Amino acid sequence: MAGKLIIGNWKMNTRAQSAQSLVDALLEQPACDQPWVGVAAPAVYLAALGARLQGRSIRLAAQDVSAFASDGAYTGEISAAMLQDIGCAYVLVGHSERRQYFAENNPQLLAKMNNALAAGIVPVLCVGETLEQREQGDYLEVIYQQLAVLAEINAGEYLIAYEPVWAIGTGKVATLEQIAEIHSAIKTWCLQNAKPSASIRVLYGGSVKAENAESILMTDNVDGALVGGASLDAGSFRMICQAA
Ligand code: 13P
Repeated sequence: MAGKLIIGNWKMNTRAQSAQSLVDALLEQPACDQPWVGVAAPAVYLAALGARLQGRSIRLAAQDVSAFASDGAYTGEISAAMLQDIGCAYVLVGHSERRQYFAENNPQLLAKMNNALAAGIVPVLCVGETLEQREQGDYLEVIYQQLAVLAEINAGEYLIAYEPVWAIGTGKVATLEQIAEIHSAIKTWCLQNAKPSASIRVLYGGSVKAENAESILMTDNVDGALVGGASLDAGSFRMICQAA
């Protein structure tokens, strides 16, 4: 079927052995071994998984990339060129957990986006409001401020992921109406303000599970899913991929 993109974000989970087993289990599933499926594994395992995925369809994704553009004295950092070198097709940029715990801000995220684009990696800009911001009613403004990075980036292909912070890891899924509203607003904003991408595609993330994937993926303007917890279980992730 395709058309929809499914990326599993493993976050800070797995070990060398379990990461390999998970990828092996996905490779055995025709629904998962597809070019529209990606796995964002912890950085230390990307190279080994990249080797495993050689000649297969599943795409490798990183969870973060350095804001520094070129090699140098940046202890602990991993550059876009390094990610490209080991076969990453995508990189998440500005996940809410990085905004929250590492105070990532728009100037840093702009640099990260541009570094990924320069390396030929498709960045996935993650945006989304907190529960407080939603309750205050200014959530669209929050999202537009996060999207502002896209007005300044260099040209190239990118993706957007809408992940309401209150729906991440909580089991609380945004309603289909809420998802449709935000995805439509994001696309309208991008058409008016963002640097053009090959296409404007918006993934939804936040408690996507086998049980709700189909209805979410069928919602207007949802072009795929960014899956956290459920991507760590091969059976659940397969069912989500099947719904794509
Ligand atoms: P959960 O699917 O665990 O809610 O996580 C969503 C997410 O943060 C994906 O990036």
